[in-house]
This record gives sequence, structure tokens and C-alpha cells, in this order.
Amino acid sequence: MPFRERYTGLINRYREYLPVSDSTPSVSLGEGDTPLIRLQNIPRLLGKDIDIYVKYEGLNPTGSFKDRGMTMAVTKAVEEGSTAIICASTGNTSAAAAAYAARAGITAFVLIPEGKIAMGKLAQAMMYGAVIMQIRGNFDAGMQLVKDIAGEAPVTIVNSVNPYRLQGQKTAAFEIVEELNRAPDFHCLPVGNAGNITAHWMGYSEYQRAGIVSSAPKMVGYQAAGSAPFLRGAPVENPETVATAIRIGNPQSWDKAWALQKESGGWFDELSDAEILDAQKLLAEKEGVFCEPASAASIGGAMRDIRSGKIPEGSTIVCTLTGNGLKDPDTAIEQCQAARMVTIDAELNAVKQAILSHM
Ligand SMILES: *Cc1c(COP(=O)(O)O)cnc(C)c1O
Repeated sequence: MPFRERYTGLINRYREYLPVSDSTPSVSLGEGDTPLIRLQNIPRLLGKDIDIYVKYEGLNPTGSFKDRGMTMAVTKAVEEGSTAIICASTGNTSAAAAAYAARAGITAFVLIPEGKIAMGKLAQAMMYGAVIMQIRGNFDAGMQLVKDIAGEAPVTIVNSVNPYRLQGQKTAAFEIVEELNRAPDFHCLPVGNAGNITAHWMGYSEYQRAGIVSSAPKMVGYQAAGSAPFLRGAPVENPETVATAIRIGNPQSWDKAWALQKESGGWFDELSDAEILDAQKLLAEKEGVFCEPASAASIGGAMRDIRSGKIPEGSTIVCTLTGNGLKDPDTAIEQCQAARMVTIDAELNAVKQAILSHM
């Protein structure tokens, strides 16, 4: 059997579909090519004839889909001669920016909301050596500051308002189509700034125009109820949710997201924090897949819409799991206080008792 060709990241794989030249050197950590896992136990629980896949983006190099956008944004920043990048972040963008800046040998400045960033993400930004500015304000305030500073200092913005970010992120749709040999009927994602849902729609639409697929999915975006501007029809002033990655009140891809919702025939909906955490736990417990809270909004929302019949039987559904569960260990442990953990003496009989009482 021939060896598989060495995978060197999504820019090298999809160069012809990306705004790079043959000679653009990619700044890559081997992002993309993530598993598309077919769920086995949850469809059975639902009692419906349904095919659900999860695209496990938490297995990217820094543990979220942000790496897909960041490889493009940093590659282009370096190509254009930039020596510093800046972003506002709820956590994962700062982790990715810091890592790719380290790889490229340039400086990353990150603005994060004080006290509202998951532990793993903060650890990453620190380890990769970013200059971290904790602001006394939320993501939306940080985003405004980043836009304002761009005219004042020689730094490249790598938030999703940077068009190269969405270009990189659209490759997730390419991978899904290639693996399924078709587009799914429904694609469900958590929505914060709505950059990722926009990027996926771009990817599906491009493959449809190129004649690689004959259809595109209905795009379904799920928000946290305390942070759901698409459900309110207007920005939310003080967004709150346990799913800190989507704690965003003023989405940067507002118009694009409304346009693709109409074009694809999809919809937006919201989940309570309790529903989000229940879905996160269920996915880990029943399928062995651990995602962060924000990511679970996709599967939690999809399950609700399957139960109600809004997503009909016979459908093929892809849910994007945007980030890795290890990003936010505090929330995970907190919601598992009633976990099946016992403290016992270090002796054989105690272990035997513990086993028998759990069989
Ligand atoms: C960034 C992020 C989102 C939201 O993506 P948008 O493009 O802002 O809609 C969702 N989940 C996780 C884990 C993220 O890091």
C-alpha cells in the first residue's frame, strides 16, 4: 500500500480555491483535515431515521476552527510585510493568533474580556507569548477598540472582519463535501460573530458553482439565549452565557448571515445555558466526543429540531463542533459535581466494592 502524502495544512491542500499565489509560503501548523464522526448512539436515543455527523474542529492545532482562518490571515499578513497582528477575542481567536504569530516570528496583541475567558484559552495565549490586554469590558468593546486602533498603529487585524479569515474557514465545507460525496441537507453551527456560518456557506456555494455538488445545505445557526442578537433582530447590549465563545452582542457578519439564512432556506434559533450544557454532556457521555459549551449549541439545537420534525427524517445533518472540551475544564468539572467519582482507601477491597456497586 502506498504511503499517504504528507499533509501540510489547508493552504497547500486548497491553494487553487484560496487567494494565494503558487509561491506564497504558508504559515501552517497542519490545521484542517479534521474528523467527520458519524453519531451512533444519539440517533438511536432520538428514535428517528436520521444521519448525524459531527465535524470535530476541536482537533485543530490550537483546539478550535479559528486555526483555519488564522493560517490564511497570518500567511497574508506576513506576505504583505506585517510584523504584528491584533485581535479582540472571547478566547479561541487569541489562542490561534498567538500560535500562528509565534510560528511566523511576529508579535500578537490580543484583547480579552477580563474574567470571561476559559482557562485553557488563557493558558494558550500566555504560553504562545502573545501580549495580552485584559480589558474591563466585553468582546464587543474589544472589537471596537481593535477597529479604532488599526488606523493608529502598524498592526494587522486578524478578527473575522479580515476577509482572509473566512477564506480559510470555508475549507471545512470542502472537506465535508469530499468526505460525504455530497452536501448535507442541514448544516448546524453555533453563532457568535457569524463568521463561521458565513464561511461555510461560501465553501458550499463555491463547490456548487464549480459543479462539484448539485445542492447546498440549509444553514442553521444556534445562539445562546442570553446572547442572541439574531433572535432579537438587533444587537444585545450586555450578552451573557456560560458559552463564553459565543458571548457576543454585536455580530460582525450581521448582514452576510441574514443573507445566507434566506438564500439557504435555513433559520436561527436559541438555546438556554442549561440546554447547551446538557447537550455537551450528552455528546461526551453517549458518543465519546468532548466539545466546549459553545460548540454543543449545534448538536443541542439540531436534536431539538429533529425531535420537532423541523429537520425531517431521512435527512443528513452535519453539526460543527467548533472547539475542544479541554478549553474550558472549569465549566466541565462544575457541571459534573454529581459525577460518578468516589474517594476510597488505597486497598483492593475498596476497589472491588466500588466496582460492584457500579455494575
Ligand atoms: C469563535 C467561536 C464560535 C463562534 O464563531 P463565529 O464565527 O464568531 O460565529 C463558536 N464556537 C467556538 C468554540 C468559537 O471559538
